[in-house]
Amino acid sequence: MSESQQYDVAIVGAGPVGLACAIEAGRQNLSHIVVEKGSLVNSLIGYPTNMEFFSTPELLEIGGYPLVSSRYKPLREETIDYYHRVARTENLNIHLSEKVLRLEGKRGQFTLYTDKKSIQTRNVIVATGFFDQPNLLNVEGENLDHVHHYFKEAYAYSGRDVVVVGAKNSAAKAALLLNRQGANVTMLIRGADVAPTVKYWIRPDLINRIDEGSIAVFYHTKITGITASTVHFTDKTGEHSLPSDAVFALIGYHPDYSFLRELGIDIDNDAVDTPHHDPNTFESNRKGVYLAGTVCGGRHTSKWFIENGRFHAEVIATQIANVLSA
Ligand SMILES: Cc1cc2nc3c(=O)[nH]c(=O)nc-3n(C[C@H](O)[C@H](O)[C@H](O)COP(=O)(O)OP(=O)(O)OC[C@H]3O[C@@H](n4cnc5c(N)ncnc54)[C@H](O)[C@@H]3O)c2cc1C
Repeated sequence: MSESQQYDVAIVGAGPVGLACAIEAGRQNLSHIVVEKGSLVNSLIGYPTNMEFFSTPELLEIGGYPLVSSRYKPLREETIDYYHRVARTENLNIHLSEKVLRLEGKRGQFTLYTDKKSIQTRNVIVATGFFDQPNLLNVEGENLDHVHHYFKEAYAYSGRDVVVVGAKNSAAKAALLLNRQGANVTMLIRGADVAPTVKYWIRPDLINRIDEGSIAVFYHTKITGITASTVHFTDKTGEHSLPSDAVFALIGYHPDYSFLRELGIDIDNDAVDTPHHDPNTFESNRKGVYLAGTVCGGRHTSKWFIENGRFHAEVIATQIANVLSA
């Protein structure tokens, strides 16, 4: 199926930044379509139940709409509700459950192919984030059913042996929630300590639980294999095995590089595999294709977040409007 209309801009991804891009496109009188492979704000729907954002509400706002929360920091549920209401209020043209696959043509006359149709568009904004691609341990047993790369909630693990792999925010928060729910938690940390970048209100809580012995931890670890009931690893003292009913390997995420290459976007040869873009305009090496939001940071997934990534939208929409009117 092919859409007959040609849009000024097609936006890939209906996360907070993709939605901000659609709003700003509208304010620049640019026609738009948003294509999202999952649900509206799909990544946020995958976050832990009742997760508290680390940002205060006003820093998550898009399009100038106030995010009202009775709390200092809003919950996942309030934030999802907010973005859904903003999208409805703005009457954004969003096509859900539709995956973008590839792109042909050039600036001014692209054809964007999805798994449902082809779309004619003058420009493309890629706002695909990183949350769908967890970093893997790459060990045998990682694909077993009790090994998870996302954490949702702790209730199912009360009284059970749980291994949490990782030392950053997601691992720290999961370990604390599991511990409070009565799981027997052991953290396996690759480095010498809990990451110094863990948020300042989470890190001392975790360090105190480790110091009092209620959360066990091994440092300088390397996982060597996982079976149905055991995690095997090494540390500086040698080889070890731990009983485990569940394993949470929470060691970060990365952008979908094969998808970005499929779109013709180069990956910089730097330490964090940055998808190539002009830092002022966010235009990639493929003219007329822009990057927005967290995808811009490559493997440096804490460089851009909602707080700062939402501002890409106005820059890109203005740039597209200027090019179209030139
Ligand atoms: C647990 C957690 C907590 C966080 N807390 C905060 C916080 O408090 N404050 C803050 O500022 N940031 C926070 N972040 C970071 C930031 O919020 C998220 O990464 C945010 O979702 C980024 O928005 P985005 O629009 O760039 O990407 P995303 O929200 O990830 O949106 C990308 C969208 O693109 C879609 N997509 C991907 N590929 C395709 C395709 N081929 N075709 C169609 N659609 C596609 C995805 O389904 C997804 O919906 C947090 C991140 C995590 C993981």
